[in-house]
Amino acid sequence: MSKAIVSTLYDSDVFKMACRQFDKAADAISLPEAIRDRTKHPRRCLAVALPIKRDDGSVTVFEGYRVQHNLSTGPSKGGIRFHQHVTIGEVAALAMWMSWKCSLVGLPYGGAKGGVVVDPNQLSPNELERLSRRYMQEMVNFLGPHVDVPAPDVGTNEKIMGWMMDTYSNHVGHNEPAIVTGKPIALGGSQGRREATGAGVAYLVKKYLEDLKIPIAKATVAIQGFGNVGSETALALAGYGAKIIAISDYTGGVHNGKGIDIQKAITYVQYQKTLHDFDGGEPISNEKLLELKCTVLVPAALERVITEKNAPRLKCRLLAEAANGPTTNAADKIIDQREEIEIIPDVLCNSGGVIVSYFEWLQNLSNFYWSRDEVMAKLFGVLDKAKDSVEYQKRKFKFSRRLAALTLGIQRVADTKAARGLFP
Ligand code: NAD
Repeated sequence: MSKAIVSTLYDSDVFKMACRQFDKAADAISLPEAIRDRTKHPRRCLAVALPIKRDDGSVTVFEGYRVQHNLSTGPSKGGIRFHQHVTIGEVAALAMWMSWKCSLVGLPYGGAKGGVVVDPNQLSPNELERLSRRYMQEMVNFLGPHVDVPAPDVGTNEKIMGWMMDTYSNHVGHNEPAIVTGKPIALGGSQGRREATGAGVAYLVKKYLEDLKIPIAKATVAIQGFGNVGSETALALAGYGAKIIAISDYTGGVHNGKGIDIQKAITYVQYQKTLHDFDGGEPISNEKLLELKCTVLVPAALERVITEKNAPRLKCRLLAEAANGPTTNAADKIIDQREEIEIIPDVLCNSGGVIVSYFEWLQNLSNFYWSRDEVMAKLFGVLDKAKDSVEYQKRKFKFSRRLAALTLGIQRVADTKAARGLFP
């Protein structure tokens, strides 16, 4: 019988969803009670007030969080999200998924995540810089190259990582590139990091289509979210010969059965900031995009977009979860029963980002830099190994692919905790 204190701190739909996934996986591998709660609960968190001087001279206080879910398997690792709907519960769920992901793909990291409740589109570049630097300043004693290493996530990018790295380096008094990953290459960023998550998603999609004996040149793809992950996934899949028939962002989407010119869409977003009024096809809503008939559906925006309402109406063959947590527990059950749909679960599907972040950290610590070809070859090697282990676990225990991936990730974290023992 579990004696864990029920925490209300993280209470939210998305945290409950991550906990339900954990409980199901822990049951499936009969994780002993003594280790179960230790493995599940986030280790620690920090909430900070972030007062920022606005360009008009006024001051606004934003709220920021960092949750370190697991520090037993190495320093913790995970992105920082700038979004108006960030909650500490969402950050905790994302941190928990980072633990399973790092463990699944064999990285010597625990999971963490950070967030600031802010719509970055409402800030000027100077205000965004002040907010990013202030966040790092407040977190200085909570982070470190051997403690917790942030990276970009929704609403943050290379530039922001650069400001954060500079703030930390100024604080410690020497250059410390290993404090964050996803930095500009000029500051010690890795070749291939910007495109790593999308390139990894596309590589796994290609591999799973091969397993399904579907030629990629005949595959059609719909992608929700056209930021770092969505656009890089689109570019890489188009490079493999797939036809991208729909893309979207928070302003809505574009549908074109003949295929969308992805490079043109990327250039458009570079200048216009969003896909709004992009003339590459007919307008389509985000809801309709998810229900399009396509070979591959790629949610690459936020959590919980595939629900029990639209899950019965999905018309894809492969659901590639580039976003974290895009499928609710109820939707997952429905898709499980729809044998015609295969899922590449988030912890495997989008792991390319943290894998190349690990490579970046290694390069920073050793001060020895790799070529893009080396990075990509190593990335695909790690993904192949992780995919094989998930498929083996799936076959061996007759698990769904999500359960196979989660049980592998969770088991490795639990084994480490058991081996380390409980202090004091
Ligand atoms: P981003 O900020 O670069 O892009 C997010 C995209 O989603 C934007 O196009 C935005 O307009 C769109 N979006 C936001 N709200 C939306 C909505 N309600 N409907 C439709 N589109 C919406 O973020 P990103 O880094 O590309 O992250 C996307 C997803 O991938 C997130 O779930 C993130 O956690 C996950 N992920 C990111 C990385 C990484 O390396 N950046 C790694 C692993 C997983």
